[in-house]
Amino acid sequence: MNLFRLLLLGAALYIVWRLLTVARRATTQQRPPAPRAPSSAHYEPMARCARCSTYLPASSLSRAGLCGRCSE
Ligand SMILES: [Zn+2]
Repeated sequence: MNLFRLLLLGAALYIVWRLLTVARRATTQQRPPAPRAPSSAHYEPMARCARCSTYLPASSLSRAGLCGRCSE
């Protein structure tokens, strides 16, 4: 009977240890990646080329409103 109790205690300890490791893994894996601060996000207005009507970042258009290919 004493040996049976020892086995039961060992099994209980094993189960508790397994639950702890699984819970720890779940908490570390379910943590979402740190979201980017909205201030760090960079948005650039888009503009349309006057000739080929391709949308490009407004800074990449020439003064006449043409893309690099059309202004050549
Ligand atoms: Zn163009």
